[in-house]
Amino acid sequence: MRCAVSIDLDGIACYYRIHGLGAPPPELAHAIHERAVPRAAALFAQHGIHVTWFVVGADIDPVLGPAHVANGERLQALARAGDELGNHSYSHPYELARLSPAEVAREIGACDGVLKALVGHVRGFRAPGYDVSPAMLDVLARLGYRYDSSVFPSRPYYAAKGAVMAMLAALRRPSGAVMTNPKLLAAPPQPYRPAMQAPWRRGQAPIVELPIATTPWLRVHAIGTSLLVAPAWVRDRLVRAMAGREFWNLELHGIDFADAEQDGIPGELVDRQPDLRIPIADKLARLDALLHQVTARWKVQTLGDIAVDAQREL
Ligand SMILES: [Zn+2]
Repeated sequence: MRCAVSIDLDGIACYYRIHGLGAPPPELAHAIHERAVPRAAALFAQHGIHVTWFVVGADIDPVLGPAHVANGERLQALARAGDELGNHSYSHPYELARLSPAEVAREIGACDGVLKALVGHVRGFRAPGYDVSPAMLDVLARLGYRYDSSVFPSRPYYAAKGAVMAMLAALRRPSGAVMTNPKLLAAPPQPYRPAMQAPWRRGQAPIVELPIATTPWLRVHAIGTSLLVAPAWVRDRLVRAMAGREFWNLELHGIDFADAEQDGIPGELVDRQPDLRIPIADKLARLDALLHQVTARWKVQTLGDIAVDAQREL
């Protein structure tokens, strides 16, 4: 059984957008890269695993300033030590699936450009908000990518996201998140070759789709943020359930490694993100226990390495 751990490096501003909060304090612009990434990297090093970081291109674009250069160099060092850097678009627009093909090409292409300048080549992409579209697959195929990892066929997650968005709309503080195409809910839960015109169906695309983890039967989302806030017995049951899958695509977010107090995250966000109410020491202990369970039973590889085999086998 194989497992890939990936970390989406969504900035604090993304969470402000989801919760309809406006803009975060400017000093938090690089909090995920400067504070969370080193903590995450230290934990992965302890477990001797190589992971995939999905990077928002603007955060590491050297023309934007010295903090962006430092963010890029930090990730470049991780890549040199064996990690993978993946494309998570240039500016993380939640509405990417609804933009024109030219805008989609610009978002994916600009992130590809800054990543290639750092590490030479890029193999994979994850769409903001799990909403992958035919236009995105088209750009990925033209760039010669090996995989997309955006499909997240979890009904409970979809229902929870819909409930939050409906509540914010009722409060006249609309969420910046965008509802995922419901067709993606019926997508295969394990790696497959998608159809270029319908990424949620099997087809003959030159790239493979590596769906984000859901459990067998109920398709509960087995991703980091929900594993973090769940009580230990739920976590154990999810891990046991994932043993029924040949491949576990375990997704984490940079914010899973943030600490509200140490990193100065305002109460307005902490009130709306239950995971931010857990101190970093507790979160690291829970993730450490989870990674012990994972490495005991699963072989951990980057998504790029999984994709190379999947392209051959599918
Ligand atoms: Zn994201």
